[in-house]
Amino acid sequence: MPNIFDLFRLDGKIALVTGAATGLGASIAEALAQAGATVAVHGNRRAATETAEAIGASAAAFRADLSSTTGAEELFAEVKQKFGRIDILINNAGTIIRHNAVEYPLEDWQTVLQVNLTSVFQLSQLAGRDMIERNAPGKIVNIASLLSFQGGIRVPAYAASKGGVAQLTKALANEWAAKNIQVNAIAPGYISTTNTEPLQADETRNRQILERIPAGRWGQPMDIAGAALYLSCPASDYVTGTVLTVDGGWMGR
Ligand code: NAP
Repeated sequence: MPNIFDLFRLDGKIALVTGAATGLGASIAEALAQAGATVAVHGNRRAATETAEAIGASAAAFRADLSSTTGAEELFAEVKQKFGRIDILINNAGTIIRHNAVEYPLEDWQTVLQVNLTSVFQLSQLAGRDMIERNAPGKIVNIASLLSFQGGIRVPAYAASKGGVAQLTKALANEWAAKNIQVNAIAPGYISTTNTEPLQADETRNRQILERIPAGRWGQPMDIAGAALYLSCPASDYVTGTVLTVDGGWMGR
């Protein structure tokens, strides 16, 4: 029996965390770095330089727009050029655009699907192919949502994309399990980030949400970081194709 804490170490591993300038991505990147990984931190509107600076020498910042069909390929190439490989891919970048379904513009639908689902597939395919070619183990962690299970209100594209993320996670896990590549997802509950600012600011919605969460509080980005570390490290080597809810009990209610 190895020392159990050693199985939570990531020394010598290279991780890419998308959407790491803020919110969940920034926390996950810092957690992986604390566990010993070298971390490529990605941003969209700006490179994730503040996250990289907070981590220090074992991080580098990148920038790519994943709403473009070529963004994933460009990002993967840049990280590979800098670090040589990716052992751990955290597909965290995501966007949400709210409209009533009857007037949802196709352009917004396509943006949400490209960022939240298609780019996740593209990056996973690039990373998985590279891991298989190197005959190396790997970890892919996709950030799903409670809307992987539920429909939400005024967010049909987001719900469709996150439902797709959960299914894609299982599809890739099945194909790559025998190659020692584990693919899992985390479905965060209601976490306090810029993504959820409109909900937190809406007094009625905020009250309704809190009443429904058994833990009685919004989650914090750090609540997701522990789950992300677990699914990125050898302690989870026999876990694949799962969607782990981290939601203060929401789904159990
Ligand atoms: P956030 O702070 O707004 O983070 C979202 C990240 O995605 C940002 O860094 C953003 O970069 C990036 N992103 C958005 N559009 C992009 C694009 N076109 N290309 C590349 N990157 C893009 O919100 P968050 O709550 O931490 O969200 C992180 C993930 O968790 C998302 O996938 C979200 O759906 C998921 N999630 C969040 C919650 C929650 O309650 N907060 C619940 C369930 C799931 P820019 O700001 O530079 O555009």
